[in-house]
Amino acid sequence: MLTSDIVIIGAGAVGSAIARELSKYKLDVIVVEKSEDVGGDASKSNSAIIHTGFDATPGTLESKLVVGANPMYDKLTRDLDIPFERVGAIVTAVTEEEYDLLPGIQEKAYKNGVYDVEYLTPSEVLKMEPEINPEIKGGLYIPRESIIDPFIYVVALAENAVTNGVKFLLSTKVIDIVVEEGKVKKVITDKGEISTKYVINAAGLYCDEIAEMVNLCDFKVHPRKGQFFILDRAANYNINQIILPVPTKHTKGKLISPTVHGNVLIGPTAEDQDDKKDKSVTTAGMEEVLNGVTKLVPKISSKDAITEYAGLRPTRTPEGYYVSASKEVEGYIGVTGIRSTGLTSSVALGVYVANILNEVGLKLVKKSDFNPIRKGIPKIANMDKEEQAKLIKENPKYGRIICRCESITEGEIVDAINSPIGAKSLDAVKRRLRPGMGRCQGGFCTPRVIEILSRELNVPYESIRKNNEGSNIIVKKNR
Ligand SMILES: Cc1cc2nc3c(=O)[nH]c(=O)nc-3n(C[C@H](O)[C@H](O)[C@H](O)COP(=O)(O)OP(=O)(O)OC[C@H]3O[C@@H](n4cnc5c(N)ncnc54)[C@H](O)[C@@H]3O)c2cc1C
Repeated sequence: MLTSDIVIIGAGAVGSAIARELSKYKLDVIVVEKSEDVGGDASKSNSAIIHTGFDATPGTLESKLVVGANPMYDKLTRDLDIPFERVGAIVTAVTEEEYDLLPGIQEKAYKNGVYDVEYLTPSEVLKMEPEINPEIKGGLYIPRESIIDPFIYVVALAENAVTNGVKFLLSTKVIDIVVEEGKVKKVITDKGEISTKYVINAAGLYCDEIAEMVNLCDFKVHPRKGQFFILDRAANYNINQIILPVPTKHTKGKLISPTVHGNVLIGPTAEDQDDKKDKSVTTAGMEEVLNGVTKLVPKISSKDAITEYAGLRPTRTPEGYYVSASKEVEGYIGVTGIRSTGLTSSVALGVYVANILNEVGLKLVKKSDFNPIRKGIPKIANMDKEEQAKLIKENPKYGRIICRCESITEGEIVDAINSPIGAKSLDAVKRRLRPGMGRCQGGFCTPRVIEILSRELNVPYESIRKNNEGSNIIVKKNR
């Protein structure tokens, strides 16, 4: 049986940020994740925006954590080598009715302590974003709304936590929690038991099932699906900031956002459903997204969509962030209701949860050798010719292009496989480096990546999977 001070359930943005924060202290921390890789569920299929909290409900824990988290990203993304850009956002009023709602949004921003929100005239908006609907009535500029690579964000948090002593158990599902005399004693997984004093429930969509294991489930979580479409870089939309609609009582609406990799992202829908596994993308979803975004930027066309995905927001009833240590079960900390802003708030949640642990009596003793720095895999395509030649001379694998769309070399893929949380599946390589995310969507590079994974992991081709169990790609050799 493994032993630990703290078990964190879930290696999404929230669990990984908590793990990295706790790795600053002299503690034995184990993260248990049922998937084959870190990255989470909602954490890898969202709008990739680091919010300011301008539109959060004032006075809520969510508002406090999102507003507090935003300024933390400058240092964090530098330390952990995470693609991040402070591009800013424009709330775009296309009709007079929408324009009349802008003062209310600005007032909310002030109540949340977001003071750098400014009015823009139609000509100011069009100067900043010439593709916006010329009928525009005006807008609000929110300069610190930012974009991030959500995959690298979680991988980087987890890798840095590992460097600082945290253990990640992947492909390991928590199936029960043992409580004796009102105290957490053990976490039972499908691979064995872990004795622990504290358990942190950061299981996203499944946090209600974890809470049930300690008989503390007075809430339900259901998925709210959001469908997205990614537009081809070659389409040259010239979108420089996040373009937001004016939210209504019912929906935040569909946004248009540049990504840190130079594409344009459009979406999401907001569809309540019961099935926690249904991530299907539909024609109706595409039409709904297009209807929304073409009101803001009329020239956006479905012809330019190169791929699509859907994410499931973990919607809690009753709604809102609920983050606390249980009074009934000593050692249990629930982090639930992290629905639509958890990518942003995760880094602040790490500190918040560490503070809760301190309040319930866990001594947090700082390590003198905590290393806050993590280096990502060097991107050969971004180097100048001299640097490339030097690296290729040292290791010719950096000269063999595997993904033509994104210019990714064999050397980089080998680095991803051998990184602190090694990539073991096609999706894990894709999330770290982007082979398969370009125009051909993996048509050319997939067999090559399978070959490299098979060789580096010393396993047959047939055992290489897209992601979790059952997603093998090659069934058998036929010639
Ligand atoms: C459509 C959409 C758009 C969004 N846009 C944004 C945005 O732009 N900005 C923003 O800040 N936020 C955004 N969000 C919200 C954000 O993505 C989530 O709040 C955040 O990712 C939640 O992170 P998490 O770690 O709590 O959950 P998850 O990422 O879901 O991670 C939970 C993890 O727990 C694991 N797990 C579950 N049960 C078990 C078990 N029994 N044993 C072991 N492991 C288990 C899961 O496998 C998963 O990896 C958006 C969400 C969606 C869906």
